[in-house]
Amino acid sequence: MKLRNFLALGLLAAGLGLSAMLTVAHGEGPPTPDEYVAHVGGDARIVAAGELTLDNRRMVCGHRPTVLDSQLDDYGAAYPGFLILNPRLMAKVSTPVKLWIFAHECGHQFRGPDEETADCFAVQRGRRQGWLTMEGLDEICKFISPAKGDTMHFTGSHRCNYMRTCFGDPSIR
Ligand SMILES: [Zn+2]
Repeated sequence: MKLRNFLALGLLAAGLGLSAMLTVAHGEGPPTPDEYVAHVGGDARIVAAGELTLDNRRMVCGHRPTVLDSQLDDYGAAYPGFLILNPRLMAKVSTPVKLWIFAHECGHQFRGPDEETADCFAVQRGRRQGWLTMEGLDEICKFISPAKGDTMHFTGSHRCNYMRTCFGDPSIR
């Protein structure tokens, strides 16, 4: 997962092939959205910044576009400069979880590769923007609970505890 530079949510332990190929194909540095789409093919497409909606909510992450890629091996991912969402998997989760996934990937854009920091960014943004409640946070916790911890991705329950702390204390970053 590290090959993606910024990490995906780490919910699915799946193929690294794509990222590896991209890294090889483009040497140093992350791909552009166009390069990514050209590489993965299929139905992948770029949605310009500010034009994406999830459950009728407009999603904004600064000036970053989002690539919709139904072949992505996770719900979402982030390269520096753009977000990637898997619309096929996103369709299966509730609204707060969808919004949290987008905000988490957006968190990587502004705060870097650390997962806890991206989680914290996401729940604080959700609270500030009014789309995340305690009940929504419960849904997110349920969603990530099967996630296995690895060196970069703490266990779901650990992430959850940290998100609850962040949600309740806006001074944490
Ligand atoms: Zn992440």
